[in-house]
Amino acid sequence: MLSRLDLLKRIDQEEVVKVLTELVRKPSQNPPGNEKVAADYIYDTMKGWGFAPQYVFKPEPKRPSVAVVHKGSEGKPRLVLNGHIDVIPEGDVNGWTVPPFEGIVKDGKVYGRGACDMKAGITAMMIAAKVIRDSGVNLRGDLVLHFAMGEETGEAGTKSLLEEEFKGDWGIVLEPTDLKVMTAEKGLAWYHFNIKGKPTHASVPHEGINAIDKVNGLISALQEYDREIGKKTHPLCGKNICSVTMIKAGTKENVIPESCWLAIDRRIIPGETVETVDKEIGDIVLRISREDSEFKCDWKRVMLYESAEIPVDHKIAEVVRLNTEKVTGVRPEPAGMLASTDQRNFINDFGIPAISWGPGWRMSHKLDEHVEISQVMKCAEILVMTIMDLLR
Ligand SMILES: [Zn+2]
Repeated sequence: MLSRLDLLKRIDQEEVVKVLTELVRKPSQNPPGNEKVAADYIYDTMKGWGFAPQYVFKPEPKRPSVAVVHKGSEGKPRLVLNGHIDVIPEGDVNGWTVPPFEGIVKDGKVYGRGACDMKAGITAMMIAAKVIRDSGVNLRGDLVLHFAMGEETGEAGTKSLLEEEFKGDWGIVLEPTDLKVMTAEKGLAWYHFNIKGKPTHASVPHEGINAIDKVNGLISALQEYDREIGKKTHPLCGKNICSVTMIKAGTKENVIPESCWLAIDRRIIPGETVETVDKEIGDIVLRISREDSEFKCDWKRVMLYESAEIPVDHKIAEVVRLNTEKVTGVRPEPAGMLASTDQRNFINDFGIPAISWGPGWRMSHKLDEHVEISQVMKCAEILVMTIMDLLR
């Protein structure tokens, strides 16, 4: 029988680099939603390795996700490894020192859009599954792999995979966390406001209502609100935040603006409900309207990612922490995500305890995005150990 060490030795760095660079060369930007090139590559590669991958054409028929189930003898428990195959657009190519979709390898790192977020994690889960399969280890439980579309735009890629019975007892979402075990994540809500004025010629402003003047009070109130909610903190995810992020107004230099449009981004710590946040926003608008009869404002929430949380000492977190310590020599401290991931779909929509944990750090969505190859290797090793611990 193969020892654990033998198993880990089978993780081949050349193969890791090959898969990761080939994945980066599949430009799966979203928007507009070009996941299919990456989905096809993963499907073909996993099939070539002897797995039976399945496309899932939900929620978008032309933008498939891929699922793989490596069956164990008893079919339970089940561990789900999850990654999103879409990447954000490359941005201004002139800002890059390397071409964003060529999978350049330099100084022990792989460069390119999506290298860190999160084709590194995708690579680690593919390689870990391959090593387990090739070694012929008998697993009791099933290993389930998700390659999901639509994460970057909040679409239901992961949710659809979970609805299609690609569920499990635990989930690991392989977002870049520098191999820190994230048991909680912040949520977010976006709100749009439309402030109405009354247009008139700028030579007679008193005959109209200046929507930009009216928005001043709202912005001040939102800034005060940010200070107030920031006093509430979560031990792993930090504080609540409200930021004014967009503003549009005006038709011409000499026209008193008839409307002003404003957007805010509200970060929500675990434990707070969106109903509470909706009410807080509504109260702000109501208060200003009462103080100023000329203040007319419609508002609505246009996006919501709920926050999510499992106990810090949950089994899935403890097992991954222990194996991370064995491989890296450092025990990951309890940690939480500041951004949103598909972890929330596991926890909130299906009651499946899940963590975010994966290779790479602070390179997501940046120019010259890259990931350390050594960390992808470590991630694959820790995954193999975790699969053995949970499913054997
Ligand atoms: Zn991501």
